Amino acid sequence: MIQLSAVAKTFADQQVIAPTDLTIDRGQFVSLVGPSGCGKSTLLRLIAGLEEATSGQLVIDQQPPAKMQTAFVFQDPTLLPWRTTHDNIRLPLELLGQADAQHLAKIPSAIRLVGLRDEDSRKLPRMLSGGMRMRVSLARALVTDPQVLLLDEPFAALDDILRQQLNEELLAIWKQRGWTGVFITHNVAEAVFLSQRVLVMSARPGRIIADVPIEFDAPRNADLRATAEFAA
Ligand code: ATP
Ligand code: MG
Repeated sequence: MIQLSAVAKTFADQQVIAPTDLTIDRGQFVSLVGPSGCGKSTLLRLIAGLEEATSGQLVIDQQPPAKMQTAFVFQDPTLLPWRTTHDNIRLPLELLGQADAQHLAKIPSAIRLVGLRDEDSRKLPRMLSGGMRMRVSLARALVTDPQVLLLDEPFAALDDILRQQLNEELLAIWKQRGWTGVFITHNVAEAVFLSQRVLVMSARPGRIIADVPIEFDAPRNADLRATAEFAA
């Protein structure tokens, strides 16, 4: 469970996140939408422990966010260019000191889970398309079996068809694996499609102004997909 109590963040006298209370239950997949610059990435980085709160308390399962407890997927997949798909996915296992046979055996299944083929595992990032690089980045996040998966506009750079396909695949994987997740997007339809709960942020300073439960089994598709992009 992720729990924020009056968590605020200030950068050089500018309050970017107003004191925020938020609880995300274990296994819940939440989307975060809001205009550009409202503080979405900052909030995610606080949860990831990449940034420290100026005030307030943030805990994941009663503990301060620990390194590698969460897995982060960025908009721009930061793959190491000299490493193959396999070895990029291997990296977090190395960092965790888990590069043993038992853990390394998870890599091929992570590769298949995200829809890549076995032969892609030997390719370097430059030999992959943008969508495939995003899949590698997702596999790299999932291979450690993270408690919490944080995704910062992962599909923003991809075309609509690929984006929809990845949304569907991500939802299918989530149903199978059931991690706790926070997904940032500018696209309200995508947020509603993917998650059980949509948080809406406003800017200056960033605060959560709406917290909308999404009925999970409701017919959530066609009409909502047509919703306009969130106005920045
Ligand atoms: P976008 O949708 O464009 O990605 P966002 O909602 O993710 O925007 P953030 O990146 O969280 O917004 O930024 C929120 C505010 O905090 C912005 O005004 C930004 O300039 C400021 N900010 C973010 N990181 C820093 C930093 N390291 N130092 C100073 N200011 C920062
Ligand atoms: Mg951002």
